[in-house]
Amino acid sequence: MPSFDYAAPTTLSEAVTLMSTAGTVRALAGGTDLIDQLKANRRNADLVVDLKHIPELQRLEADSEGLHIGAARCCSDVHHDPTVNSLYRGLADSTGLVGSVQIQNRAAVGGNVCNAAPSADTTPNLLTHEAVAVIAGPSGTRSVELTDFFVGPGQTVLQQGEFLQELILPTPPENSASAYLRFIPRNEMDIAVAGVSSFLHVDPATKTVLKARVALASVAPTPVRARAAESVLEGKTISADLISEAGNAAVAAATPITDVRGSAEYRNELVRVLTRRTLGICLERIGVSV
Ligand SMILES: Cc1cc2nc3c(=O)[nH]c(=O)nc-3n(C[C@H](O)[C@H](O)[C@H](O)COP(=O)(O)OP(=O)(O)OC[C@H]3O[C@@H](n4cnc5c(N)ncnc54)[C@H](O)[C@@H]3O)c2cc1C
Repeated sequence: MPSFDYAAPTTLSEAVTLMSTAGTVRALAGGTDLIDQLKANRRNADLVVDLKHIPELQRLEADSEGLHIGAARCCSDVHHDPTVNSLYRGLADSTGLVGSVQIQNRAAVGGNVCNAAPSADTTPNLLTHEAVAVIAGPSGTRSVELTDFFVGPGQTVLQQGEFLQELILPTPPENSASAYLRFIPRNEMDIAVAGVSSFLHVDPATKTVLKARVALASVAPTPVRARAAESVLEGKTISADLISEAGNAAVAAATPITDVRGSAEYRNELVRVLTRRTLGICLERIGVSV
């Protein structure tokens, strides 16, 4: 592996200064993507700034703004968090799928987001919960909706010297739930051929869908919201037919490629099926039957 300098700041302001150093500077959270990329010469770095020791980046707590997930907080902590397991269940699903337990103990949700792989497992659920990315940099902090964070494969809106400080997920209303499913050809340790997260807010008395969010992984250059599926669902009475219609509509957001993992046609079919299934899981979690 080519040599690089390493710094492990313990304060946010120290991190801001280090991230603005001249040359190629890369943030490190768990290192499960970055170290591999450096070893394989797919990335270079003059300086690697380890963000794990900064309290703000280890935050995992709910307040009136919603759930704060510090950008260096590992997937295992998020997966086991009681608030996540009651209010953001799709995030518990996705953080429990990343790699293996060993990977989840190191890998951060923020690292998964900043790596910006189209196949990233935690991202679709963050999109369905309308997460906001809080970005720190030399000019202070700014907030960007996660839907606007991804520019292309491996590319984000982060500018020179900027880094992700935390993600904020608004508090979901009562009678809502989310779910995430992916398809891989074996039980674990593989990249999603396709992944879908759904979020539903339903009036249990009338079974009207008050809000729906659907987001897809591995079927476009970036993670994407399936807005046509959301429109099919919102304002309607939930039924098996409506769920099926939403599954078909979700395919409109997919622009998949054909590669060794699956053909474009197969991925579209997975989007249909996983959308239906995740919507079904949301309803089970809310306690509404169809
Ligand atoms: C064996 C194995 C299995 C895996 N399985 C899966 C899987 O099932 N699903 C999945 O989605 N991924 C998987 N991955 C990929 C990886 O584990 C995840 O993407 C992980 O969440 C990355 O987090 P990290 O903290 O390790 O990121 P890092 O490697 O530390 O960083 C990833 C990238 O983001 C940048 N970065 C990190 N933090 C910040 C920040 N705060 N601000 C700005 N930039 C930042 C880094 O510079 C780097 O470019 C796997 C990896 C391995 C090695």
